[in-house]
Amino acid sequence: MDYKQKLNADILWCERCPLHATRTNVVVGEGPLDATIVVIGEAPGANEDQEGIPFCGRSGNLLRELLEAAGLKDKVFITNIVKCRPPENRDPAPNEIVTCLMFLKRQIAIIKPKIIVGVGRISSQAIRSDFKMSEDNGKIFKLKNGMDFMGIYHPAYLLRDRSKIDVVKGQLIKLGDQYG
Ligand code: URA
Repeated sequence: MDYKQKLNADILWCERCPLHATRTNVVVGEGPLDATIVVIGEAPGANEDQEGIPFCGRSGNLLRELLEAAGLKDKVFITNIVKCRPPENRDPAPNEIVTCLMFLKRQIAIIKPKIIVGVGRISSQAIRSDFKMSEDNGKIFKLKNGMDFMGIYHPAYLLRDRSKIDVVKGQLIKLGDQYG
């Protein structure tokens, strides 16, 4: 078993936090392992838990449309901070985030993207703790590990406030030009 297979096996059998008891599937991530961009959501929802695929529900479809419009469909690896669904779609708890971050760090070490994109406030703040969505969305920051980072509005929020869809579309097109 190579390192990547071992990582997947470790995630799939994980029982390190309470979320393992209520999950249907562990949602590891989707996309090429040589992606230049890693897109990171918060946690799987009901559809993702059923399918084992990140961002495959209504808001996920919007995110995928925006990535496709930016020419990034096959260039991104998509995953979440927390790999198992929190019951009733509640926010992941701090201990669940901290516990699961080790898997994200290992995924990033394998993929070595040029930039990490946080989708929504919770994932963006898990990566950069002082991130403020209203001020910082679409800006590029340098992380301590040397990688670039950008946070964008969550597609579930965009479905509620559609006026921001074009803002995110523009940010992703720029991202594709720079990092795609
Ligand atoms: N929302 C997220 O943050 N991640 C998913 O995978 C689906 C919905």
